[in-house]
Amino acid sequence: MKKIRAGILGATGMVGQNYIRLLEGHPWFEVTYVAASPNSAGKKYSEAVKGRWQMQGEIPAGVKDLIVQDANVVEKALGKVDFVFSALEMEKQLVASLEEKYAANDMPVVSNASAHRHTQDVPMLIPEINAQHIDIIPLQRKQRGWKKGFIAVKPNCSLQSYLTPVFALEKAGYKIDKMILTTMQAVSGAGYPGVASLDMIDNIVPFIGGEEEKSEKEPHKILGKIVGNKIVYDESIKISCHCNRVPVTDGHTACVSIKFASKKPSRDEVLKIWREFKGEPQKLKLPFAPEQPIIYRNEDNRPQPRKDRDVDKAMAVVVGRLRDCNVFDYRFVGLSHNTVRGAAGGGILNAELLKARGYL
Ligand code: NAP
Repeated sequence: MKKIRAGILGATGMVGQNYIRLLEGHPWFEVTYVAASPNSAGKKYSEAVKGRWQMQGEIPAGVKDLIVQDANVVEKALGKVDFVFSALEMEKQLVASLEEKYAANDMPVVSNASAHRHTQDVPMLIPEINAQHIDIIPLQRKQRGWKKGFIAVKPNCSLQSYLTPVFALEKAGYKIDKMILTTMQAVSGAGYPGVASLDMIDNIVPFIGGEEEKSEKEPHKILGKIVGNKIVYDESIKISCHCNRVPVTDGHTACVSIKFASKKPSRDEVLKIWREFKGEPQKLKLPFAPEQPIIYRNEDNRPQPRKDRDVDKAMAVVVGRLRDCNVFDYRFVGLSHNTVRGAAGGGILNAELLKARGYL
């Protein structure tokens, strides 16, 4: 099979490097184009990331000699890619208009950036939860006059650790009324070089700019429905969130308390629902789909980032410590790999879903 040509915008950053690592040998996609800021443009990829290649192992042979292009010059990518992954870190409005420009030039954009997460005709996907939101793409194209291009985005990197288990319960008929969560987020979530080591060693920072708002608002879009020409949010779960930056390299953890709207399932039922939960990526057998999206660990002291973040290609959500809550109904701990499931791996899964459904 002829591979689909993928470009990576922001290829030199933390998420971009993960795309390059994870796409090596991908059965459907190959990296044919890398782009970043004007500072990196014109250099070989290996030179552009010299001293800041953060991945284990070498730079893949097919990428190290590619010349990095300026991501702001959309025309450079014409004819070299069939679609692009966007992992740009720059001013939100600039990312928004740049992604639109790629889409308008017939290059679909699968994005990790937050710029278009709340654009009403752009799907924000966790494919196990809301794969059906890609049905808005024909409308997005029509409204904007785009023929082949479109934009689809990924939510914030910590969401899957708690939203996937919560969604599984709702899907099984146990509507949730409220939820309080506290995240402990890895330093790789801040990109490279990220948070200064003197702020992080022997410390916890109880604030990550904009993160609590994202954690409280993005689930409402993901749980929403396409109505007419937009995705209408489902705000029925009230969410209160604390976000902390902790000295962990990879893996975001969330401590979650939930209150059901009416009926409360038994503990055994919750575990069964999580164990049996499957979504569209599993049905379609997508290459990056974890076999079991939610894995429950029975040990009292799991999940732990170092021990559990890499399970099933680092794409599964690992959950543990399900117990009664003295204030709400239940509490549990969820964990997912932020730069894989929460970023590049999640983006690749989105692209696989879009390809399987004929959009790429
Ligand atoms: P990062 O490590 O800071 O990398 C940023 C990338 O953007 C680099 O390739 C950089 O190129 C490029 N860039 C910066 N300014 C630019 C400009 N003016 N024009 C063109 N390119 C420019 O950031 P990251 O952590 O990879 O995050 C990338 C995106 O993914 C962000 O939108 C972030 O919010 C999102 N995200 C991150 C995570 C995570 O866990 N890290 C998770 C989910 C989503 P140079 O190297 O040339 O400067």
